[in-house]
Amino acid sequence: MRAYDIIFKKRNGEKLSPEELEFIVTGFIRETIPDYQMAAFLMAAFIQGLDDEETANLTRIMLYSGRVIDLAEIRGPKIDKHSTGGVGDGISLVLAPLVASCGVVVPMMSGRGLGHTGGTLDKLESIPGFRVNLSVEEFKKQLSAIGVAMIGQTEDVCPADKKIYALRDVTATVDSISLIAASIMSKKLAEGADGLVLDVKTGNGAFMTGRDSARALARAMVSIGKLSGKKMLAIISDMNQPLGRMVGNALEIGQAIEVLHGNGPGDFQKLVLELGGRMLILGKIVSDLDNAKKILQEKIKKKEALKKFAEMVKWQGGDPEVVVNPQKVLPTAKKEEVIVAREDGWLSGYVTRDIGVAAIYLRAGREKKEDTIDYSAGIRIEKKIGDIVRKGEPLFRLYYNDLAAENLAMARRLIQNSITITSTRPPELPLIYEEIK
Ligand code: URA
Repeated sequence: MRAYDIIFKKRNGEKLSPEELEFIVTGFIRETIPDYQMAAFLMAAFIQGLDDEETANLTRIMLYSGRVIDLAEIRGPKIDKHSTGGVGDGISLVLAPLVASCGVVVPMMSGRGLGHTGGTLDKLESIPGFRVNLSVEEFKKQLSAIGVAMIGQTEDVCPADKKIYALRDVTATVDSISLIAASIMSKKLAEGADGLVLDVKTGNGAFMTGRDSARALARAMVSIGKLSGKKMLAIISDMNQPLGRMVGNALEIGQAIEVLHGNGPGDFQKLVLELGGRMLILGKIVSDLDNAKKILQEKIKKKEALKKFAEMVKWQGGDPEVVVNPQKVLPTAKKEEVIVAREDGWLSGYVTRDIGVAAIYLRAGREKKEDTIDYSAGIRIEKKIGDIVRKGEPLFRLYYNDLAAENLAMARRLIQNSITITSTRPPELPLIYEEIK
C-alpha cells in the first residue's frame, strides 16, 4: 500500500477500507508517513468527508493506537464531559473538580488549543508546575485518591489523536464532523469512563456554525459512544459570543477560580450547572436536573469544589495557592490595551471566531505546531450581547507581552470589527438549544 494512493482515492471521493485507514494512521504515528502526506490526506477527508462506517473505523483505529485504560478497579461512577470547542470555554476547569466533589469520578482527557479555540491542557499548564502528562498508573492512582484528574493524550494513550490533532490545528482541517467525532470519541473511549456528557457548540465561534451540522456531530458521537456501551448524552449550546469574560489561558484559570468561589459570569455559571447536573444524572447520584443543580450549588457554596480543584492542582505538581492567591501564582501580562465603543447602542452581535483568532495573534494560541504560547496573554470581554454600550466605554482589554507590531495590529483590527452595535435591543440568545440522547 502507498500513502499516495490513499490520498488520491479520498481526494476523488472514494470510500476507504479499514486497512487503508489503518495504514495511513499507523504510518503517521510511526513516522513512515510524513506530515505533508498526512496533511494532504486530512484535507482530502475534510473536503470529501468520511461516511459513518469510515468514521467508526477511524475512531477505532485511533482508539487502539495506544492503550485503553481500564478503570474497573476504581470505585464509583466514572463520568466525563467534553466540549467540541469554543472561545472562552473553560467550563471543564470548574466542572471536573465540582462534579468530583459530588462523588462522581471524573477521568478527564483533554486537548490543546485547536484552530481558533482554546484547549484545557494549555489552560492548566498556565499554572506553574502543573503536569498534564501523567502516566496511566499516576492517572489511576490520583483518580482513586481524589476522584479527579485532568490529563492529555500520552505516547501510551491515544497517540494518534495527539499527533493528528496538532496537524489539524495548523492545516485548516478542524471543522469536519468525521474528524472531530473520531478525535473526541477516540480519546473519550480510551480514558475508561462509563459515561460522557458532550457539549456540542453551535454559532459563529464554534466549528459547527449551523444547528444542523452541530446536531449531526452530536448524533455521530452519541451513536459511536453507545455502540461501545457508554452512557451518552449531548447538549447543543450557544457559541455566538465568547463564554464568560475571559479568553486566554491564565485568564481563564483565574475566571474558573472565581466561579469556584461562587462568583464569576452568569452564562458560565449556568452552563456549569447544566452540564454538571447531567453528569450527576448519568452517574446516578440524582435523577432530576433541578436537584442535581442544587447539589452542585451547595458544593460551590461550601467551597468543596474549590478544595477539590486545589487538591488536583497539588497532585499534578502545581501550586495549590493558586486558589487563594491567583494573582501571585499565575503569570500576568506586562501590557494592556483597552478597546472602546465607537458609538452608543446595544451590543447585538459578535464575530466570535475572530476573537479567538485575535487571541492567537496575541500569542495565547499557536499559529504553527511548534509555537510556544504566552500563558498570560488574552482578552477580557467587558460587554456581552444585550448590554447597553456608551461611546468611549471599554469593550475589550487586550493583554500581551513582547509582540510583533503586525500581530498587535491584526489583533486590534479583528477585535474592533468583531462586534455589532445597534440602536435596538437584540433578542436574547438561548444558552442551550437542544439535548440529544
Ligand atoms: N475537540 C477535540 O478533542 N477534537 C476535535 O477535533 C475538536 C474538538
